[in-house]
Amino acid sequence: MAFHRLIPALVFAVGALAAGPGNAPGQVTAIRAGRLVDPEAATIAANQVILIEGGRFTAIGANLAIPRGAEVIDLSGMTVLPGLVDAHNHLALTYKAEPEHNVYYLTYVMESTPLRAIQAASNGIQMLDAGFTIVRDMGNAGNYADAALRQAIEQGWIPGPMIINSGIIIGGQGGQFWPTPEMAVDKNIVYPEYLDADTPDEIVKAVRRNALFGARVIKICVDCKPWGYTTDEIRLFISEAAKIGLKVEGHVQTVEGAKRATDAGVWSIAHDRGLTDEMHKVMAQKGIWRAGTETPISLTGHTTPERYKNSVAGLRNAWENKVPLTFSTDADYYVPGKTRGQVAIEFIETWKAAGIPAADILRAMTIGGYKVSETMGKRGPIRVGLAADLIAVAGNPLESIDALREVRFVMKDGTVFKRDGVMTPGKFFHGGPVNGWNIR
Ligand SMILES: [Zn+2]
Repeated sequence: MAFHRLIPALVFAVGALAAGPGNAPGQVTAIRAGRLVDPEAATIAANQVILIEGGRFTAIGANLAIPRGAEVIDLSGMTVLPGLVDAHNHLALTYKAEPEHNVYYLTYVMESTPLRAIQAASNGIQMLDAGFTIVRDMGNAGNYADAALRQAIEQGWIPGPMIINSGIIIGGQGGQFWPTPEMAVDKNIVYPEYLDADTPDEIVKAVRRNALFGARVIKICVDCKPWGYTTDEIRLFISEAAKIGLKVEGHVQTVEGAKRATDAGVWSIAHDRGLTDEMHKVMAQKGIWRAGTETPISLTGHTTPERYKNSVAGLRNAWENKVPLTFSTDADYYVPGKTRGQVAIEFIETWKAAGIPAADILRAMTIGGYKVSETMGKRGPIRVGLAADLIAVAGNPLESIDALREVRFVMKDGTVFKRDGVMTPGKFFHGGPVNGWNIR
């Protein structure tokens, strides 16, 4: 351990040289796809062959010769498409009716970071099972369980989506909690669920701390409290994060907060409560991503008829204004009878209710997700040179988005995770970091 810590540069180099996840170099996998969807162009091509080697796509076309010795996977009766993205989830948080009455403040008090990290591993597997190959994990992960989850998946300990994690949500005094003075001041109870940062010095320090402990994006509370952050303070977050190559997502719940976040030019805005027609027009003009987290009314108890009506209307308005859209759920609770992935996919109901065409819903769930995650050049589209992630369904999601409710096949990094509707993740589990060790 000490040896590794002394030479992180060498460790990174070894990690880069490692074979990487997925099928081994020299071993070719050939997929026969009955139909292949390109969500960006909203087109579908019949009878395609997809070749994969070393965890990457190496060739895609109609009349490709399948090399001798290749493993052939027959999806000729299926529709193949790129993996899905949930642009806002919290895999290391699962609040529930029993015992905490769906109050996550109590979850945080009663469930340790190690327990939540194990839950995150399970939730990640459940997301992958539902076809999500990338998840942006936006805080509320205890003491950096999100970073541990990302590392464990990257190193090859467990299967899971690619994780873009935020570390601890940064807010001014209290985060989203209203603790008592004795618990907040004497016991520092807000941390590690939130990082307090109230002054420019503290803002800089908080961004650097998250980066040090493994964040891949910065998440801030723009207006969780009446004091919130000013436009200049948000700009400071953005410039400090940019030094490290990170983008800033603002949690926004008021129109005033949305104005400050859009004025400052955040990368993405989480939640739809502050997003008016005027804000949508600004977001479209500035290219600010919308992670609206529009809870469907079918998830009983997690929205109200009034809130749902506003979510549907807001999503419709955003689509009409051509705001860059992502599929985002904030699905951080237990719904008995459903996996975390099934809860997330349920959110298509709100998109359908907003009258958004299936092709545009699918584009938000794929291309929009890769762009907001900044993975486009490495992972996402089914394109030669990119990581071999894909899923398959029976129907055509360009005609009915409900086809995504039953993902039959999942491949991540060239390794089959789910086949014929059954998870078979054995090849993902290893007794060590087979993909190379990384310091975070
Ligand atoms: Zn959230």
